[in-house]
Amino acid sequence: MTQHPTAAAFARIDGQLAVGGVPVGRLAERVGSTPFFAYDRGLLTGRVGLLRATLPADVQLSYAIKANPMPAVVQHLSGLVDAFDVASALEMRTALDSTMPATRVSFAGPGKTDAELRQAVAAGVTIELESENEARRIGLAGAALGIRPRVAVRVNPDFAVKGSGMRMGGGPQQFGVDAERVPALLKDLAGTDLEVLGFHVFAGSQNLRADIICEAQQRTVELLLRLAGDAPEPVRYLNLGGGFGIPYTDRDVPLDLAMIGDNLTTLMRDEVRPRLPEARVVVELGRYLVGECGVYVTRVVDRKESRGKTYLVVDGGMHHQLAASGNFGQVIRRNYPIAVANRIAEEPAEQVSVVGSLCTPLDLLGDNVTLPEAGVGDLVVLYQAGAYGLTASPTAFLSHPAPAEVLL
Ligand SMILES: *Cc1c(COP(=O)(O)O)cnc(C)c1O
Repeated sequence: MTQHPTAAAFARIDGQLAVGGVPVGRLAERVGSTPFFAYDRGLLTGRVGLLRATLPADVQLSYAIKANPMPAVVQHLSGLVDAFDVASALEMRTALDSTMPATRVSFAGPGKTDAELRQAVAAGVTIELESENEARRIGLAGAALGIRPRVAVRVNPDFAVKGSGMRMGGGPQQFGVDAERVPALLKDLAGTDLEVLGFHVFAGSQNLRADIICEAQQRTVELLLRLAGDAPEPVRYLNLGGGFGIPYTDRDVPLDLAMIGDNLTTLMRDEVRPRLPEARVVVELGRYLVGECGVYVTRVVDRKESRGKTYLVVDGGMHHQLAASGNFGQVIRRNYPIAVANRIAEEPAEQVSVVGSLCTPLDLLGDNVTLPEAGVGDLVVLYQAGAYGLTASPTAFLSHPAPAEVLL
């Protein structure tokens, strides 16, 4: 059986899958309970290294904390990436608790409250301004605190990015200020005490088509350079967004990162640097940095037959890893890569369905998957659990205990 590329990245020790050099059986004893999430520090470091080696050196990397806000993960990445993007006050606190300087933290999101804006102004992070109304409220927070707020205008582009799992730009959006309204907003901002650092575009997520991402980056650069002409101060910050996808299922072809690197190199050399030699240019990534670096580890609690079909019932489920059950916005449910982690070297022997412990048919983790023969006590892992796992799942649904998280 050919291995999914994500599965192949994890080491094997003594016939077991290993995370951070620890075989999963021993890891389960160390954690003390199943299910749990385990993230591999070495894989995180390697992923940043791959991006550094492929993207141009003067493009900075920002990590979007919402993909995985575990404080230990954020702290590990703070030494590796250049910036953090946060989307709530609590994410901002996690970012500021790390070694990342506040000036490298940006705060995006459409519904920032006055209290959050005040915290952000006091912290000195860059607020990615999402509307004219928000601009006014940031101004009030700055005046109340006697601090000049640092902002970047999030632009809703006048184009859409095809092929994204989630579209967040183009057409009407709750995100950002429509591109055609930005010149007037910039004019208004020139008369205020806001420090306008530059611009941000984030047009979509989970895109596996490098050619489409390249085109989006090209159009983003053109749009932002055009808007830079209307800025009240020299533009010092250009956040080009991201949207780099990862291969969740067998049908997904991994992203051609080299194509994106070549395209960005040309864009920086020919378009950005001649116009904005000093600007901090940023690519903002969540799942691409962390998604493939984590697994969700469950234990088989029951093995049963029903009218010719074999079920492995595990002690985890969709309440922790919603995406793997196909209920996280997917149109068609497809299996995430799955394995019997303590029998990782054994040949696949039978077709089974792996289900979670919740009392709902939605809790399906592996539908007719081919695995080595497994039974009660064996450890079943789901790959692709490093991003949008625990914090993107309905943990309170059916009131089961919360899983542990470890970074190795
Ligand atoms: C969600 C989000 C990201 C990260 O998206 P991924 O698909 O995980 O890369 C980055 N920037 C903003 C503004 C976001 O909302």
